[in-house]
Amino acid sequence: MAYKTVNPYTNEIEHEYPQTTNEEVEKTLAAAYELYLRWRNGDELEARKQIITRLGELLRAKKHEMGALITHDMGKLIGEAEGEVELCASFCDYYVQRADEFLAPTPIYTASGNAYVLHQATGVLMAVEPWNFPFYQIARVFIPNFLAGNPMVLKDASNCPTSAQTFADLVSEAGAPTGSLTNLFVDYDQVGQIIADKRVQGVCLTGSERGGRSVATEAAKSLKKSTMELGGNDAFIVLPDADIDQLTDVIFAARLYNAGQVCTSSKRFIIPDNLYDEFLKRAKEIFSNVKMGDPMDPSTTLAPMNSKKAKEKLQKQVDLAIENGATVVYGNQPVKGLAGQFFMPTILTDIDRDNPIFDQEMFGPVMAVYKYHDVKEAIALANDSSYGLGSTVFGTDIARARQVAAQIDTGMTWINSGWASLPELPFGGVKHSGYGRELAEQGFKSFVNDHLVYEPE
Ligand code: NAP
Repeated sequence: MAYKTVNPYTNEIEHEYPQTTNEEVEKTLAAAYELYLRWRNGDELEARKQIITRLGELLRAKKHEMGALITHDMGKLIGEAEGEVELCASFCDYYVQRADEFLAPTPIYTASGNAYVLHQATGVLMAVEPWNFPFYQIARVFIPNFLAGNPMVLKDASNCPTSAQTFADLVSEAGAPTGSLTNLFVDYDQVGQIIADKRVQGVCLTGSERGGRSVATEAAKSLKKSTMELGGNDAFIVLPDADIDQLTDVIFAARLYNAGQVCTSSKRFIIPDNLYDEFLKRAKEIFSNVKMGDPMDPSTTLAPMNSKKAKEKLQKQVDLAIENGATVVYGNQPVKGLAGQFFMPTILTDIDRDNPIFDQEMFGPVMAVYKYHDVKEAIALANDSSYGLGSTVFGTDIARARQVAAQIDTGMTWINSGWASLPELPFGGVKHSGYGRELAEQGFKSFVNDHLVYEPE
């Protein structure tokens, strides 16, 4: 299995890594399990809090260096990469502040005696993570679980190995003992073997529906708890009373941030007929004004996609949409003069229910726009998806927007804003977008053992 950094702006191979051997896997699991035995009764929490505080300091101090490394690995804009590093540092602050509270025993009120629930570590976790937020995806599972006392083995995407290794090295630099977080360059079979190992008690994956299905199957075969953070085809419902100027301000970030490669990017814009023409006009203006170029140049606004493979897959999907009746309102032209994996931002309309693209996630800078007349139609369209990750509702009548939000079958809804991720907000989806939650108290407790202690009178 080839783990390498191929810079998507220059197409040059910058780093290559040898595959981890089975002996190294065994050593890793042994070290991680030993740590679990040390931590399982809640010992050393203060020391772990200090390590995470130090990790936050290191992330902030090295923000530019780490950001540049992410940009070289998978192409995102340097400003976005630095923002990602800063967000990870904020996770350090938040979970250090809240760890004692989250791990404190929960009293149970019963008339029959004394009862409480301990929140204890469960064992070693296997984390399988994607390339689109190379630090953030690791941070959001590692930091809470480290504090809870669950050591972690990491298999990161094969196209961003430098970020994954560097994050693990930073954790060591912050003072974490060997086995706390070990990045491995393993193949899919080795991932299956790790999941089956008795010392491993949980599996968390962020990635595609296809990857999630395979890894969840491995977890199920060994009866290991899993959380799955998978793809999305998020709807952005604009209500007829929406403020079009406020809306215009979020279109870029909602669809084109990270070159559109965000699980919670708004992918389907559902627009009322009174605003449809104006919305398309403004979206076209935004899409035609992007500046593609070197992602290390702060004036660039649209980065290359993460890999040649991803760009080719997106092009096939756009072709499929068009063959089945979609109209190109803007884009879908080759990008001239740049060698990197750039995809011209594209706006599609007229995607019917029977178009095979209707129920597919397009993971790149492509916006699908739908027109509706009645709000019920908009809600039905939003819910007509195999996915259920995030959604957005835009409207000036907040009570109405909240009513609409409550009727969307997704794990998250944002009102009058594009997607957002903060340490205190639980993140996750329903339907084929997966199960379980990361971040917030829910995510912190995904892999703790809620251990009941009961003393009847
Ligand atoms: P992917 O192909 O599923 O890869 C994600 C990770 O899973 C990578 O580390 C990959 O390794 C690994 N993997 C895939 N199949 C595997 C298998 N059978 N056994 C073991 N490991 C396996 O996902 P992607 O297409 O690169 O990532 C983009 C997807 O992630 C999108 O669908 C996006 O919406 C989703 N995503 C979801 C969230 C969320 O929180 N819900 C957040 C970000 C992204 P290799 O690289 O070696 O194949």
